[in-house]
Amino acid sequence: MNGEKKKKIIKTIKIDADKCNGCRACEVICSAFHATPKYSSNNPARSRIHVIREPLKDVYLPVFAGDYTVAECAGRNKYTIDGKEYNECDFCRASCPSRDVFKEPDSGLPLKCDMCESEPPQEKPLCVQWCLNEALLYEEREEEIEEEVKQEELEIGLESLANKYGLHNIMDMVTRMAVSKKG
Ligand code: SF4
Ligand code: SF4
Repeated sequence: MNGEKKKKIIKTIKIDADKCNGCRACEVICSAFHATPKYSSNNPARSRIHVIREPLKDVYLPVFAGDYTVAECAGRNKYTIDGKEYNECDFCRASCPSRDVFKEPDSGLPLKCDMCESEPPQEKPLCVQWCLNEALLYEEREEEIEEEVKQEELEIGLESLANKYGLHNIMDMVTRMAVSKKG
């Protein structure tokens, strides 16, 4: 990629944690939307949004799955906001070796929020549509970005596959695919 600029719609979901009551409708619809075939099952463990729920502490915190990371953090933080204490990692969006969240339960492959990219496009992400408490608000804006973003995503995906199945196996598979395409 040559760093060429192009216009892109930046999609944002604003989270108002004070409005979340921990109903988990967002987790249910996200996992159903990403099931194969679509809506054939739902399992919040496959959701790309995870709601930290601690009713005794009045903590309800929706967190969206972000990038995959190979190593857990060496140092961690604890937050207290408006008198509510949050655990280490509560705000973290990473699919990380230290915990099960944001991993496909069968394969262990990382899950990442894709803003419900689909064809035809959704009017709004499904979790936003299903949050009746308006804890999730969708916004979009246009920005100029560098092309390399796609390259980064490809590298992260390949790195996670190489860690799971071994670099040699992945390279063998790519070689076989290349040969079969030529033939
Ligand atoms: S659907 Fe809304 S209120 Fe329910 S858990 Fe998700 S973010 Fe919270
Ligand atoms: S935007 Fe779509 S993919 Fe992302 S958490 Fe919400 S339902 Fe899941």
